Amino acid sequence: MNSKFTPRVVVVGAGFGGLNAARALGRAPAQVTVIDRKNHHTFQPLLYQVATGGLSPGEIASPIRSILSAYKNIEVLMAEATGFDLTRRIVETPGLAIPYDYLIVAAGASHAYFGHDDWEPFAPGLKTIEDALEIRRRVLLAFELAEKQAIAGEGMQPLDFVVVGGGATGVELAGTLAEISRHALAHEFRSIDPKRAHILLLEGGPRVLPAYPEDLSRSAEDQLKHLGVEVRTSTMVTQVEPGAVHIGEKRVQAAVVLWAAGVAASPLGKKLNTPLDRAGRVLVNADLSLPEHPEVFVIGDLASVKDKEGKMLPGVAPVAMQQGRFVAKLIRQEVGARTMTVQGAPFFASSAKSADFSRPTFHYWDKGSLATIGRAAAVAEFGKIHISGFVAWLAWLFIHILFLIGFRNRLLVFIQWAWSYVTYERGARLITGSTNLPGWTGLHPGEAAPSASQEIPAVNRK
Ligand SMILES: Cc1cc2nc3c(=O)[nH]c(=O)nc-3n(C[C@H](O)[C@H](O)[C@H](O)COP(=O)(O)OP(=O)(O)OC[C@H]3O[C@@H](n4cnc5c(N)ncnc54)[C@H](O)[C@@H]3O)c2cc1C
Repeated sequence: MNSKFTPRVVVVGAGFGGLNAARALGRAPAQVTVIDRKNHHTFQPLLYQVATGGLSPGEIASPIRSILSAYKNIEVLMAEATGFDLTRRIVETPGLAIPYDYLIVAAGASHAYFGHDDWEPFAPGLKTIEDALEIRRRVLLAFELAEKQAIAGEGMQPLDFVVVGGGATGVELAGTLAEISRHALAHEFRSIDPKRAHILLLEGGPRVLPAYPEDLSRSAEDQLKHLGVEVRTSTMVTQVEPGAVHIGEKRVQAAVVLWAAGVAASPLGKKLNTPLDRAGRVLVNADLSLPEHPEVFVIGDLASVKDKEGKMLPGVAPVAMQQGRFVAKLIRQEVGARTMTVQGAPFFASSAKSADFSRPTFHYWDKGSLATIGRAAAVAEFGKIHISGFVAWLAWLFIHILFLIGFRNRLLVFIQWAWSYVTYERGARLITGSTNLPGWTGLHPGEAAPSASQEIPAVNRK
């Protein structure tokens, strides 16, 4: 018996799925390598707070190396996974090939422009800290440029913000924009009135928060309107250009356009050379492994998994976390059983098929869903119990603080929120980087607006 053989588990992506898998493999009889192209784990549910100046990046993101430092069997590699050699069992990164016995791919998803990637520079989406800082820059800059214009004697031009997509991210962005223009910024400008900023939320489907029950969608829309957001449902954006969106033939001017309309699985899924669903997610077995490769698992937003009723599991953090823990437990069990019997690498016979393994099926335990809309405004669904308003917001607050990585971050965020709740202040309102706003010159009086008569492609919305 070769007692020295230690299998190597490689985890690609240290988001919610990968990090939970890695932690659950801490101190297992395996060497674990976590690869991520960023050096930090981002708590994506609070990105909108960074984008709107409520929190700083360091309060919602932590270095992966520090999160995993307690586990001596885990190494962290900051690198971009660019491909896989499933036959040789290798993860490819620029300049470094990393061998594995087990592979967990948890590379997540990013925003999708439905074939219109050229819209991205004019309508940034929210997925990373960099995205949040870019949105923050644009939003705050719009108010500064409007003030400058007013000081120059040009009056206050309409300050319009358009958020495209009425899912959870669009709703929280629109609600918070309304809140900061009516409260945090309201008394700080002398020549413009930030309260006159107009926030427009456009949703292609018949209701906002389409993944929630209808009564909560209605409540969310009412709460948004109460905060001062104009909500237009069944409204398709057909074109985005600097400083404007088009809805059919109509051109809607916007100082800032934000994109919250679509999600696409990571392109890394394609590199696994295995069938994908229409959204680019990897079709996996009931145990989350690849059909021909029991040693390869795909989890989180990148995996296409259905529940018992045949409904697709949502792209949310609890799904990724539970899947991460599920595959880690499975690997731990197999590693524990095999170190006694296997005579060195390769760990699996190359002919092994998933069918050769008797493994459990992954079941998602849905503990409920929450979406925040703004200050003291949220909706929550816990099975048959539907809650709206302040109580839902408190539940949302509590759960999000609880799941933040690190005690320090939890404490800081709690203090920040308590402070801004009492004072309406948003302490991270820094404009960094360029001072150009796409399309801003088009807002000056006398300048010709871009032509609205261009060809208008249709947008496919989920
Ligand atoms: C703005 C926003 C708000 C959200 N709000 C909520 C919410 O309130 N509640 C909720 O439950 N869910 C929310 N979600 C969804 C939730 O964040 C995702 O479902 C969850 O992050 C999926 O986890 P994951 O591990 O699959 O991917 P991710 O958490 O996205 O992690 C993927 C990781 O892979 C890394 N990576 C990607 N490609 C590569 C590569 N080629 N090489 C190396 N590393 C790579 C990335 O850097 C990242 O660290 C939100 C998402 C967003 C964007």
